[in-house]
Amino acid sequence: MTADRLLLIDDEAAIGRIVGTIAVDLGFSFQHITDPNVFDAVNREFRPTALMVDLAMPGFDGVAMLNLVHDLAPDTDILLISGFDRRVLNSAREFGLSKGLKVKGVLPKPIEIDALEAALIGLRERASGAAPLAPGDQFDERELRRALSDREVFPRFQPKVTLDVGGHQRSRLVGAEALARWQHPTRGEVQPYGFIPQMEAMGLIGEMTDVLFGQVLYRAGLWATGGYHPEISVNLSPLMLRDLSLPDRYEAQVRAAGLSTRQFTFEVTESAAMLDVVATSEILTRFRLKGFGLSLDDFGTGHSSLVELYRMPFNELKIDRLFVGRALKDQEADVIVRLLVDLARGLGLTVCAEGAEDEETLAYLARIGCQRAQGYVIDRPLLADEFSALLAAALNA
Ligand code: C2E
Ligand code: CA
Ligand code: CA
Repeated sequence: MTADRLLLIDDEAAIGRIVGTIAVDLGFSFQHITDPNVFDAVNREFRPTALMVDLAMPGFDGVAMLNLVHDLAPDTDILLISGFDRRVLNSAREFGLSKGLKVKGVLPKPIEIDALEAALIGLRERASGAAPLAPGDQFDERELRRALSDREVFPRFQPKVTLDVGGHQRSRLVGAEALARWQHPTRGEVQPYGFIPQMEAMGLIGEMTDVLFGQVLYRAGLWATGGYHPEISVNLSPLMLRDLSLPDRYEAQVRAAGLSTRQFTFEVTESAAMLDVVATSEILTRFRLKGFGLSLDDFGTGHSSLVELYRMPFNELKIDRLFVGRALKDQEADVIVRLLVDLARGLGLTVCAEGAEDEETLAYLARIGCQRAQGYVIDRPLLADEFSALLAAALNA
C-alpha cells in the first residue's frame, strides 16, 4: 500500500472507475465504497489519507455525511463532490470548515479530469509536506471582478485538426478551441480549474464568457482581414443556459464584428446544472437556428446520456480525453472510443477526440473513423499570436 490512500464514498459505480483510474495513475492506493454505513469499518482497515465524499447519496444527505466524517475521521483531508449547483457545494464546504473538517476542495459533477487531477496532486503534495496547489486556494470576489474589468482573463487557442480517415494524408488545421486563462498580476497564468468554479459560484461566469467571447471575436476579425476563417469553439457553462437572451446577444456580437455565426461553435457539458431541460433545449435550439455549431463536451464522463444526445440539437460530439488517452493501453477505453465514434457517425454528428498525446493515438483515431482531433501531439493551447502564425503557415502550405 502506498503512502497516499484515497477513499471514495459515492453511490455511482461510474464515478468510482473514473476517480480510481486517475488516482492510481497519480500513485494513490484507492478504495471505493458506495454505502456510507460501511465507512467506519473500511476507514479503520484502509486508513485513508484523503476522502472524496459525494454529498448526495440515497438515505444520506450532505450534512449527515459530513457529520459522519467529523465523528470518524476528523483529521483526514476531504474533497467534496456533488451533482448539485456549485453554490450548494460551496455552502457545504463552509459548513464542513466551520466544524473543523479539513475540506481541501470541491468538485462538481460531472467531474472535470483536469480539476480532479489538480485536486489529487494537491492532496498528495500536502501529504508529503510540499506546498499546496491551486484548487484549495480561493480568490476573493474583488479579484475576480478585477480580472474581468481589467481583461486579465483571455483566451488561449488549441488547434483542432481533421484526420484523414483514409489514412494517408497529413492532418489539416480547421480551427481551435478557445480556452480561458487568467493572467494574474502576482500568481502568473492561472488555469481554468483555479478560477472557473469560483466564477460560477459567484454568478460571474456569464460575464467572464462575454469578456472571453469579445476577445475571440476581435481575433477572428483580424484573422478574417488576413483571409482566414478558422472554426472557433467556445465553452459555455451549463449555468449560462438559463439566459434566454444569450443566442440573440451572441448573434448580434458576431454580426457587429462582420463575421458569420457558422464560424463559431459552443461546447456544452451536459450536467445536473441543466435542471431546466425546457429552457436549455430552447436556448440550444435557438443557437443552432442562428447558424452556430453546438458540441456536446466531455461525452462519456458525466451525466451526458444518449437521451440528451437525441433530444438536444448537437452537431458535434467530443470524446473525453480520459478515454482517448487510454485507448491504446486499456481495452475498455478502446471499446468506448470506437463505440462513440460509431454512435456519432450513425447520428450524423461530427466527432472530435480530445487529448491525443502521441502519433500512435492519432493514427488509431484516423483508423477507427474519428474525423477530428485535438491534443498535445498537435499543439498545446496557444497564445493568439502563435495561433495566427499557424494559420498563416497552414494557408501557405
Ligand atoms: P475542456 O473543454 O474539456 O478542455 C480540454 C482540456 O484538455 C483543456 O484544459 C486542454 O488544455 C486539455 N488538453 C488538450 N489536449 C490535451 C492533451 O493532449 N493532454 C492533456 N493532458 N490535456 C489536454 P484546460 O484549458 O485546462 O481547460 C480545462 C477545462 O476548463 C475545459 O475542459 C473546460 O471545461 C473549462 N474551461 C476552459 N475555458 C472555459 C471557458 O471559457 N468557459 C467555461 N465555462 N469553461 C472553460
Ligand atoms: Ca471544451
Ligand atoms: Ca472536454
